[in-house]
Amino acid sequence: MTKEATVARRRILQGIAAVAVVGFDPVRRTWVTDAEASRPLSRLPRLDGQLLTDPGSLAAAGQDFGRYIQRRPIAVLKPGSINDVVEMVRYAKQQRLRIAMRGQGHTTHGQAQVEAGIVIDSSTLASVQVNASDAVVGPGATWRQVLAATLPRNLTPPTLPNFIDITVGGNIAGGGIGGAAHRHGAVVDNVLELEVVTGHGQLRKCSATQNAALFNAVLGGLGQFGIVVRARIKLLPARQLARLYILQYPDVGAFLDDARVLALDERFDHLEGQVNADGTGQYGTVTMFAVKYYNPGAPPSNATQLAGLDHVGQEIQDLPYAAFVHRLDPIIDMLKMVGAWALPHPWFDIFMPESTVETFVAETLATVTAEDTGNGNVLLYPLRRSKFKRPLLRVPQQTEVFYLYDVLPFSAPVPAAVNQWVARNTAWLNRGRDLGGKRYNIGSANLTRQDWRKYFSPVWPAVLLAKLAFDPTNILTPGQGIFPWGRPVDCDD
Ligand SMILES: Cc1cc2nc3c(=O)[nH]c(=O)nc-3n(C[C@H](O)[C@H](O)[C@H](O)COP(=O)(O)OP(=O)(O)OC[C@H]3O[C@@H](n4cnc5c(N)ncnc54)[C@H](O)[C@@H]3O)c2cc1C
Repeated sequence: MTKEATVARRRILQGIAAVAVVGFDPVRRTWVTDAEASRPLSRLPRLDGQLLTDPGSLAAAGQDFGRYIQRRPIAVLKPGSINDVVEMVRYAKQQRLRIAMRGQGHTTHGQAQVEAGIVIDSSTLASVQVNASDAVVGPGATWRQVLAATLPRNLTPPTLPNFIDITVGGNIAGGGIGGAAHRHGAVVDNVLELEVVTGHGQLRKCSATQNAALFNAVLGGLGQFGIVVRARIKLLPARQLARLYILQYPDVGAFLDDARVLALDERFDHLEGQVNADGTGQYGTVTMFAVKYYNPGAPPSNATQLAGLDHVGQEIQDLPYAAFVHRLDPIIDMLKMVGAWALPHPWFDIFMPESTVETFVAETLATVTAEDTGNGNVLLYPLRRSKFKRPLLRVPQQTEVFYLYDVLPFSAPVPAAVNQWVARNTAWLNRGRDLGGKRYNIGSANLTRQDWRKYFSPVWPAVLLAKLAFDPTNILTPGQGIFPWGRPVDCDD
């Protein structure tokens, strides 16, 4: 049998598996199977991939890394092509079903979930094609998959999240922050072109010069205006080695003083702060991970890199760049082994302006100990407003330097403990907002309609217009909780 014939046969077999469900009964609002095909039904479009309705697939798509919200969809699409996404969005619109793409479900508060609707699992759209200075990737490609294709050609995305098992599509929806974002902006600042399926079920190409309104809406647009089905992302030459400077600071204030200098002078390629707990569990000292990339034979000068800094302890390590970008792997393996990966993760994430970050960090960390967070990480990334250019990834505008502040607890697996964290996060978020902060929308907090308006302020009118233009029936990505389900969007929203 030829290779083409084998592939064709496989497609047909997938088709047969999917034929278990042939359509949707719009009156009873349930799927109709092959055996019940005499019932009134809206027949499913022909798909290259599979539409799964088995309990295991629905349960898996109905949860996320937060592990405390479960919203069960009625089907999971494993698209075999971009056309499947187009067809399924059209079908969902026709049937008044909500629909969202799910990356790896690494958000923590139901953002990728769809109660009684359709989840599109992006993992089957994960191709990576590397060109001289960019890569064309499927939305389900993880950064690990992207790096596997780019590093052999000595190329790398400019900004990578620290955890590389999240998807390009998920980061495009949320923003995408990493240690290089003080130099290169967020992941969304390094996207050159997108192919998007809008809430109308139209496949559109967009970039800064073509359909710019759609491009600007989708980058950091939390899945509200279109489903990303292909992205062209920038690549830079990758250096082969990384010199890691681990610098100790006695307190947050001392760390912030140096972090500001380093964010502005860009002498390091990667900057990341971690607030540590002492023996009694109180958070206080800070470790800065500052990294300079280099090629063999041209190491950085330690005197130049550390000139003028006020740290109180230091350690310097050299490692291959590939090892550096995979540095979390052993930690994640350990967390999985001890069961911590499966615990609830009611995470808190906010961007704070330089002017109030110290106050806010002090206020919040005074109320929790390492015991409360289950020894979860507390992170501070120095960032720069002028590098963040996408209108819908909202960041503080007051100061050039601002910070991503994350408190990442492992909660006890009981509702009372999780609820306490979510309530605490929500209170912190409100306080942070009063101090000029903007939520980073990957974590856990309860937002009201008014909260979303304030989050998007002053661009809320543009958000509404984009929703009216690209998803007026409001079927896309309900898990973010921005537009209430049950009615189309209108100008009074
Ligand atoms: C251990 C860990 C470490 C992390 N580290 C970082 C980090 O360093 N930096 C950082 O920025 N984030 C980090 N995150 C958070 C992560 O970036 C977010 O969860 C992010 O949304 C991507 O995760 P995902 O690909 O699994 O997307 P999901 O959680 O599956 O989806 C997130 C949202 O995007 C939507 N979406 C997904 N794909 C598409 C698409 N193709 N088109 C339109 N909408 C889509 C979903 O519907 C959902 O609303 C971390 C998370 C974990 C668990």
